[in-house]
Amino acid sequence: MHADIAILGGGIIGSSVAYHLARDGRAGTIVVVERDPTYALAATPRANGGIRLLFSLSENIEMARHGRDFYRAFESEMAVDGEPAPISYKRQGYLFVSDAGGAAQMEENARFQESMGVTAERLDPAALEARFPSISGEGVALAVLSPDDAWIDPQAALMGFRRKARSLGVAYIDGEIVEWQGDGVAARSVTLADGQAITADVFVNACGAWAAEVGRLIDLDLPVEPMSRESYFFRCADPLEPLPFIKTETDLAFRPEGDGYVGGMPDWSEPAGWNFEPSPDRFEDVVWPALAQRLPSMQRVKLIRSWRGHYARNTLDYSAIIGPWSGGLGNVYLANGFSGHGVMHAPATGRALAELILDGGFQTLDLARFGYHRIPAGEPYREKGIV
Ligand SMILES: Cc1cc2nc3c(=O)[nH]c(=O)nc-3n(C[C@H](O)[C@H](O)[C@H](O)COP(=O)(O)OP(=O)(O)OC[C@H]3O[C@@H](n4cnc5c(N)ncnc54)[C@H](O)[C@@H]3O)c2cc1C
Repeated sequence: MHADIAILGGGIIGSSVAYHLARDGRAGTIVVVERDPTYALAATPRANGGIRLLFSLSENIEMARHGRDFYRAFESEMAVDGEPAPISYKRQGYLFVSDAGGAAQMEENARFQESMGVTAERLDPAALEARFPSISGEGVALAVLSPDDAWIDPQAALMGFRRKARSLGVAYIDGEIVEWQGDGVAARSVTLADGQAITADVFVNACGAWAAEVGRLIDLDLPVEPMSRESYFFRCADPLEPLPFIKTETDLAFRPEGDGYVGGMPDWSEPAGWNFEPSPDRFEDVVWPALAQRLPSMQRVKLIRSWRGHYARNTLDYSAIIGPWSGGLGNVYLANGFSGHGVMHAPATGRALAELILDGGFQTLDLARFGYHRIPAGEPYREKGIV
């Protein structure tokens, strides 16, 4: 089989790239190679779906702003044959809460965010408690609220991208990439586990936390590793006011979901690697105490479900790697290392890759500083908000 463009990995990043390439009909034949159409282990369906503008790098802010606008219109824009693509878009804000340790950085970030047109409302402890009565202001030095931020159902967004891309002629091929061949000038083909070979003129690595593994098949060195993150769905016995997506000073991050809440709290001591096994006691021993301390009205919560998913963490600087494999094979493009923001950044990433491949350069948002060149040069471009 031959395609003009082969996208490796069909999660939300690969599917957004596919959609953006296909939408104006200039790209020729596009295939997406995805080994698991149920996405059982992929990051996208395991994500929390938060969209926030509270970043410190201008590119991350602009990408999230585009993502927010894109997802707001997703249901109708991504309709196929008149059938809408609902993604449960909910504009309920994003709140960062900090103690004295992180307040100065948060204030610096908020000033920068404001300079970029972001609403970053500062709340002192009294204002915080007045605005959200279930949150305790004790020990809080600063809280910043971005009221226009939102969240979506990431699984629904992935399916929406996928369905729309297919309606525009993109072929999804079920199969595991086991070989990726090049000849020193360009990448030429991938071979799947069933022996099928696909040749293409252009390749995009969108393999999420598996990106380095797939890259190694063609001697592409990517500093991307899987970082396991545990998530929980829990219910609170007492009804609370509508809460935003909250991230506290202990890195506890959660939001309302249906009749409960969804979120998690990273364990920074856990080594990198694959781990899909939820820990039996962590919610009760670590997460719940942090929750009940910041939100005393969450004394009575019940854990309903735990699961794990993996960030694709770029060990150089935790930022995304977007663009051509500079210094390597010129027809290989990268969309990797999105840590905890690949859902919100998927629309801007898809648009950027389509511009690079079809127009030869960025047209709307210059993402050159996220380029691969910084990896061999060892020059980090680091986010100072959360990654
Ligand atoms: C717990 C958690 C919470 C998160 N919360 C948020 C959030 O609130 N907001 C946000 O924006 N982001 C969030 N994220 C991050 C977000 O989920 C990811 O950045 C995003 O889903 C990455 O998409 P992807 O397409 O790169 O990866 P994936 O969804 O993992 O897709 C990669 C695909 O590549 C395929 N693949 C891999 N190797 C091969 C191969 N050899 N052959 C064929 N196919 C292959 C896989 O099967 C997979 O389907 C969160 C992530 C986690 C884990």
